[in-house]
Order: sequence, then structure tokens, then C-alpha cells
Amino acid sequence: MAWTKKVLRVNLTAGTCTVEPLKMEWAHQYLGQRGLGTKYLVSEIDPKVDPLSPQNKMIFITGPLTGTMASTGGRYSVVTKGPLTGVIACSNSGGYFGAELKFAGWDMIIFEGKSAKPVYLSIVDDVVELRDAAHLWGKTVWETEEIIKKSHQDPQVRVSSIGRAGENQVMFSAIVNDLHRAAGRSGVGAVMGSKNLKAIAVRGTQTTSANIADPEAFFKAVTAGKKALAANPVTGQGLPTYGTQVLMNVMNEMGGLPTHNHRDVQFENAKAISAEAMHEKRASDGKANLVTNGACFGCTIACGRISKMDPQHFSIKDKPQYKGASGGLEYEAAWALGAACGVGDLDALTYANFVCNEDGMDPISFGATVGAAMELYELGVLTKAETGIEMPFGSAEALVKLTEWTASGEGFGKVIGMGSKRLCAKYGKPELSMTVKGQEFPAYDGRALQGMGLAYATSNRGACHLRGYMVSTEVFGIPVKTEPTATEGKAPMLKAFQDTTAVVDSSGLCVFTTFAWALPDIQPQIQAACEGDWSMDNLMLIGERIWNLEREFNLAAGITCKDDTLPPRLLKEPCKTGGQKGKVCELDKMLPEYYQVRGWSKEGVPTAETRTRLGL
Ligand code: SF4
Repeated sequence: MAWTKKVLRVNLTAGTCTVEPLKMEWAHQYLGQRGLGTKYLVSEIDPKVDPLSPQNKMIFITGPLTGTMASTGGRYSVVTKGPLTGVIACSNSGGYFGAELKFAGWDMIIFEGKSAKPVYLSIVDDVVELRDAAHLWGKTVWETEEIIKKSHQDPQVRVSSIGRAGENQVMFSAIVNDLHRAAGRSGVGAVMGSKNLKAIAVRGTQTTSANIADPEAFFKAVTAGKKALAANPVTGQGLPTYGTQVLMNVMNEMGGLPTHNHRDVQFENAKAISAEAMHEKRASDGKANLVTNGACFGCTIACGRISKMDPQHFSIKDKPQYKGASGGLEYEAAWALGAACGVGDLDALTYANFVCNEDGMDPISFGATVGAAMELYELGVLTKAETGIEMPFGSAEALVKLTEWTASGEGFGKVIGMGSKRLCAKYGKPELSMTVKGQEFPAYDGRALQGMGLAYATSNRGACHLRGYMVSTEVFGIPVKTEPTATEGKAPMLKAFQDTTAVVDSSGLCVFTTFAWALPDIQPQIQAACEGDWSMDNLMLIGERIWNLEREFNLAAGITCKDDTLPPRLLKEPCKTGGQKGKVCELDKMLPEYYQVRGWSKEGVPTAETRTRLGL
């Protein structure tokens, strides 16, 4: 669909909605979604702004391929300053909401200010209004979506909303669309809650092909792309059959599965929470946890999991709303709720994940924070008197209770809702927070995979696997196999991954396509859809420009090279078992080279020459 060239600006303080033309000069420099949203945000806010104050802004933005027939072209991003981290936040979601926003004729929505009372934004093509949301405040995401669809008398309206976690400003609260697709990371839901904005409901009826620059070339390029996805073993078979959960046993066997708050790198119950376990029939009703796979808008991979719990499981007695099928465990969630906490009960994990979707919480940061709290409990720093429950590693009961409490803002859940960094600092053990720049690690150990260690330390939104997925080269050999324990060559390779990912995240496509596609597969799709020069060289320059723009915002927000680091555990406590036994992350060998290949000073600041080259 390329750009609609229309921006909706919503001032929540004044209650106004105004239309602006998209700044096309910026679109040509930053493409869309992550890049373009960041350009708008950094141009409009003070980097030192309190993320939860009315002065912070929040941008919902699509890419030029969102809403097109390109495979996976349904993505949108939420760009803001993150409360969990205090740095740039850009959370990407699939489902159907992004495409619907495009069909309604909008590239992006900029929210500014704060509403005096709860509201939601209704968009039906050009008809845009802020509506009272008093009746929705206190409701979950699932309830909110149902109420809005009924009141609009339109089952096809797409809703993106926060649950109670976002209202309560849980630091890792998410924005959820289509019931279980989330802009999950960095606490973007808390920013939405701080603005008294409960939801966006959108319905669009405009044609999908009107803005494609060269429709014939576009059809040819996306058809070739779909063929490549179908022919690739990962995107054509592995992801549709097993989802991202295919990684659980792989990472465990190689000794790269962070376990017990990163104390260990292998989990004895990994098999019980794996993709294979989700396929197995259980004794109670003869059914498997996995019901089917699912897809976001336009996706021909369909990696999504739809699951159904054991109806006899202790967590859902007398709770009929959890007995149906819903968005089931993806790898990162299964790891955080499972291995990080030592919990091997697949149904407890499925339940906790349902609740994270239902009330809008990032299961990665939530599970990792519970893992940190469990370690504090085992050390005697936390006691039952403080927490109200026993919570040793491995307790499915504690996981279930803490999920419910955090979602609803009760009991010790209020403390868990602060996130791991604030929790560990509060109890005098900051070194036990497994975070970078305040954001919790995902499911790969940075000691076992050196490149991932560097990727975490340098990620612009705090620890993240989706900013430079070095697992691809270190585990799968895509595009080439590198030794996980090697440090040589990892810095330039990571830079290439980070810049390429910035392009993909700005296009409207899903990053999972890159298991099969390299940038030369994506470039013809962008070139055919968009007016202008989208050569490979230009796209790589755009990716690098986006990365540096994010970095400059973070530097202005107050981070320094001292923040490009890892917790002491990863730098000093070697892996105890597995193929990488004895290894720590040798960040000091990689970081100086990384700064150098980035064209940054020894202090991690883009040099004047780099800024000029990138047009910053
Ligand atoms: S690959 Fe998975 S996450 Fe990506 S668009 Fe397809 S279904 Fe959604």
C-alpha cells in the first residue's frame, strides 16, 4: 500500500484530532514504522522527559508494506520513550490492527498530552473521534475488545488496547491487539495508561493497491518472496509446525537456555515445556495443548500458536474463560515463565501466558522478574512475610499467583510490576537483575552465544533478541555459520544484523521472514511498492541511520558507554554445564571493535564524520 501520506495527530489534553500530511522527506530517509516513528518522536520530545508524563508522546505507525499483499505485511509499531528503560522504546506487533489502520487511510497516529478522563479513539476511515471510556476502565484487554465490537456493531473493527496492567502502570505492560498480538516490550502499555487512553478501535474500507508505485513489479516481487518462504525449511516447515518453540530443546541441548535467573544454562524440565510437548496428547482428556497454528495479516508462514489448557489444571478451576483456545506459548514466553523460574508445568505456563495477553503484560519481562524474585526468596532476602506466599524456583503455584496479582495490581504483584531492575535494587541486590538498560533478557544466554551477549549490551531498547538476532548465525548458520563461543568477527556481523533489522522493522514486514529472506529478497518488494530510490546501498544506509538516530536519542536521554554492558553474572560466572561450560561473555573483546565499526568514539558517541555520512 506504501504510504497513505496522512498522519493523525491526537492531542489528548485538548481532546482534538487533526490531520497532517506525512513528511515525505523523512519517509525517504527513514522508510516507515520503526525508523520514521523514531524520527518523528525524537523531533518532538525532550529526550529527558519523564516517560509517564504528559510531555512524552506515543506514536502508532505502520510501514509502507503494511496492508499490502507482501507476506507478513501486517505489522505496526508503537514508538515512545520507555518507562521500563528510560530510553527509546519501539515495540512491534502483528495481528490485523496495523493493516486495518492502513485501510482506514492512515500511516500513523501521534498521541500527545494526557486526557483528563479515560477515553478511547474510534477511527472509521476519515471519521475520527475520542470517546468516553469510563465503562472500559478496569476491564481486561479481552473484555475491552468484546465491548467495543458490540457497541460498534461491527465484528471486523480491530482493537488495540491496554488491560489493567497498563492502567496500573506496570513497568512492562503491553499494548495488545487482536486478543493475543502485542506491542510487548519496554512498558509501552504504561505510557498509554498514563495518558488515560484505553484503546484504539479502527475500521478501514479503502483499497489496498491504490498507492503501490509499480503494481506489476510488486506482484512479481511478492510472489517470488512467498515462494522462497514456502521452500525454506524454517519458514516453510519448522515455524508453521512448531512455532518459535522449536528453539526450546535446541537451546537447552547446546547449553544456552538461561535457567533459574541465569544461574544455570540448562533446564532439567525443558522437554516438558517444549514445542514437542505442546503436540503431545495429555492423559486427562486425550487432547494436546496445541490446537492449531495461526497467522497474522497476510502471513504465509503462520508461526502463531493457538492452545487449549488441560481443563483439570489447578489454575483454571471455576474459570471458564480460560477453557477455550487462545494465543499459546511462543518460545520467549515459555522460556521466561518456565526455565527462568524453573517451572516445568506446561499448563501453568499456558495459563500465565493467557493472563499476560488478557491484561496486557510482556511475558518476557514478567517471567524474568519472577525469576529474579525467586532467587531473592531462595537467598532469604525475600520471605513469605514480605511476599505473602512461598515462592521457590519451580513453584507453578507461585507463578500462577504472581501472574494474577501483577495483572490486577494486588499483593506482592505490585512489587513484581516494577520490573527486575527496580525489584533487585529495592532489596539491595542490583547485581541479580538480569537486565540491560533496565530491560530483561530474552531466552538466549550471552555467555553461550558471544554474539548475542554483544547484541544485548548494545541494543538500543535494552536487552532484546529482535535488534540483532545473532542466534541466526551462531546456532542456525544463517547466513553463515559462526562459532557461538568465538568473539572474532562478531562486531561487524552484529552491525550488519542490526542495520538490516532496522530496515525490516521499518518496512511493515515481520522479522521472521529473515530466516529465509536476505535484504536482496526484500529490496525488490520495497522498490516496487514505494516511489524513489530503494537500492540495496540506500536501504543499508537507512538502517544505519535509524540505529544511530536511536543511539543519539539515548545519549541525550542520559545513557553512556557504561550502560553498554551486561550483569556481572554473565561477565564473571561461567556456564556450569553444556557445550559452552566454563565460558563467560567476553564483552571487553568485542565492544571496542563494535564502536569502531559503528564509526563511534571510544565513548560510544557517533563521530562528526559518521553523523555527516548518515545525514544526521
Ligand atoms: S511469522 Fe509469525 S509473528 Fe510473523 S507475521 Fe507471521 S504469524 Fe505473525
